[in-house]
Amino acid sequence: MTERTLVLVKPDGVQRRLIGEVISRIERKGLDVVALELRTVPRELAEQHYAEHDGKPFFGDLLEFITSGQVLAAVVEGPRAIAAFRQLAGGTDPVEKATPGTIRGDFGLETQYNLVHGSDSPESAAREIKLWFPNL
Ligand code: GDP
Ligand code: MG
Repeated sequence: MTERTLVLVKPDGVQRRLIGEVISRIERKGLDVVALELRTVPRELAEQHYAEHDGKPFFGDLLEFITSGQVLAAVVEGPRAIAAFRQLAGGTDPVEKATPGTIRGDFGLETQYNLVHGSDSPESAAREIKLWFPNL
C-alpha cells in the first residue's frame, strides 16, 4: 500500500548541512521524494504543525526553534512510507531512544535538536501534507 508522509529537515539539520544525508537515506531506503522545498517557517504554520503539543512545557521553545532558520520540507512516498521514515529517523530522544544507524542516532544529541520530523500516522500525514503543500 503506497503512502505519503511529511518529512522536515529542521533548522539544525539544514545548518549542519545534513540535507543531502537525509535525502540520500530516504532514497536508499527505496522511498520517492515527490515534493521538496526549502522554507522559512512562519509562526502560524509552526503553531499549526505542532498543535498537538500546545500546552506542553517545551512548546514555546519548539516554536522558537522551528522558526529559527530554514527548513527543508518534503513529501515522501512509498509502501508504508510513514513507518519507514520514522524508522530511518529513530526515536525522539537521539541518545536514549534513537539507535546508531538512524538519522537521530547518528547525528543527534539533544531531544529538541533532533534534526528531522516525520508524520506519525496516516491522519497526521494527511493533515501535515495539506498544511505544508496545499497545492499538492
Ligand atoms: P517526534 O514525533 O519524534 O518528532 O516527537 P514529538 O512529536 O513527541 O515531539 C515533537 C518535537 O518536539 C520533537 O521532535 C522534539 O524536537 C521536540 N520535543 C519533544 N519532546 C521534547 C522535550 O521533552 N523537550 C524539548 N525541549 N523538546 C522536545
Ligand atoms: Mg511527532
